[in-house]
Amino acid sequence: MFLTISATGTPERPATDLGFLLHKHPDNAQTFSTSYGTAHVLYPEASVERCTAALLLEVDAVALVRRGKGKGRGGAPDAALAQYVNDRPYAASSLLAVALSAVFTSAMKGQCNARPELPARPLPLRVEVPALPARGGADLVRALFEPLGWTVTVEAVALDAEFPEWGDSRYVRLVLESERLTLSEALRHLYVLLPVLDDAKHYWVSSDEVDKLLRAGDGWLPDHPEQKLITSRYLSRRWSLTREAMERLELVRLAEADDSAVEEIDNAVGEETEADSEAAAEPEEKSVSLAVQRRDAILAALHASGAARVLDLGCGQGQLVQALLKDTRFTEIVGVDVSMRALTVASRRLKLDRMGERQAERVKLFQGSLAYTDNRLKGYDAAVLSEVVEHLDLPRLPALEYAVFGSARPRTVLVTTPNVEYNVRWETLPAGHSRHGDHRFEWTREEFQAWAERVAGRHGYDVEFVPVGPDDPEVGPPTQMAVFTMTTKEEKAA
Ligand code: SAH
Repeated sequence: MFLTISATGTPERPATDLGFLLHKHPDNAQTFSTSYGTAHVLYPEASVERCTAALLLEVDAVALVRRGKGKGRGGAPDAALAQYVNDRPYAASSLLAVALSAVFTSAMKGQCNARPELPARPLPLRVEVPALPARGGADLVRALFEPLGWTVTVEAVALDAEFPEWGDSRYVRLVLESERLTLSEALRHLYVLLPVLDDAKHYWVSSDEVDKLLRAGDGWLPDHPEQKLITSRYLSRRWSLTREAMERLELVRLAEADDSAVEEIDNAVGEETEADSEAAAEPEEKSVSLAVQRRDAILAALHASGAARVLDLGCGQGQLVQALLKDTRFTEIVGVDVSMRALTVASRRLKLDRMGERQAERVKLFQGSLAYTDNRLKGYDAAVLSEVVEHLDLPRLPALEYAVFGSARPRTVLVTTPNVEYNVRWETLPAGHSRHGDHRFEWTREEFQAWAERVAGRHGYDVEFVPVGPDDPEVGPPTQMAVFTMTTKEEKAA
């Protein structure tokens, strides 16, 4: 079984850099012994323009059987011959993946002491796997590799080239091409996805496989649309491990949200977080005012509602909490965010540790995720979600809806979010771009209103819409706000 990895190059960036990255000199053929056979690395071509490394694994079928998991799939498990005559020597499977990581350990980790600048650089890559067992067929192969930035060519392999009437085998020839990926990313994609496509591991899957999966999946698996299938197959459908991996991937995702919140904070000039990215796109003099206008609109709506005890959900670095504190109408203010680091900045901003006792009694900050119901959020007059919903993946939004409108159930809920229609008015915002890197979506007025009306209807609220910022006759305002009020009937019932 084998695969090849090729790079193309120019005199400035010779393709032979691939040798440095793989830690294998193009002039030498090298041999490594692995538990299931011998791995060879050789370079069929190595020039400035083009360099190809081949990894060839000679599987020792006897060793496989001795280790007890050599049965070819499809063969009767007790057929003695099938133990020795099976596809394992030819098909790119978990064996090849293990060899890949054994032979190219540093390359996979993105380490290159000789040329430390190389690993982070994307390069024009081409990977060819001549015989890949693909359970799920060509469509699944595409669904796995395309979201990662690969151009995918999959060809069915005939069972026997001389007898086309026998039809296709379950193998495909796979070619992957990309100019956007680093070698480390490419190897880690293969390391995980080859066994996923083969869907048969040659060894017992134990809990340290979860660590391996998360390490190899770093930077791509948390956001992969087929994450669940990949995780479940990689872990040989062991449900408890799959669940553990899914939970840890979710934490990674939250931590990433955390980091991006901190980036927002780090980038913020004085006051603004979310407004910061808008500020970058917006003409100078208007930029500060939108965040301020948003806060003013929120304060006005809170005043009108008569709320005294207020939740700021997804409070970020606490500007709104600070503004609410200055207004004595608000007797209790609670800021909640998933990001610990954002909360740290917020508490510094509010000078919580130096606050007088009476002031300190009015304010609380705590960490929590809006994707889960939380009893600490019950019993408040109003909740504010300012520029928060668009930070959640759409499939997670119903969980937030339930946590806020179904479980916490304050009388008033204010939700603000960008109006995507307005983006064309930001001169420096490239077409089709959202206002902030972490926005999972941005809605038109119609989309936002449809969502808000559905949520209101489902949970017993009335909803009204308030434009925030200059209300453009054509594209509307830059920020849209929904004011939800619990219907009187619901309130009486409560
Ligand atoms: N409300 C602030 C901050 C908006 S940025 C403002 O208007 O300026 C979005 C904030 O939502 C970030 O601080 C982020 O950490 C937080 N957030 C994102 N997902 C969350 C979740 N699931 N639970 C709680 N907070 C979340």
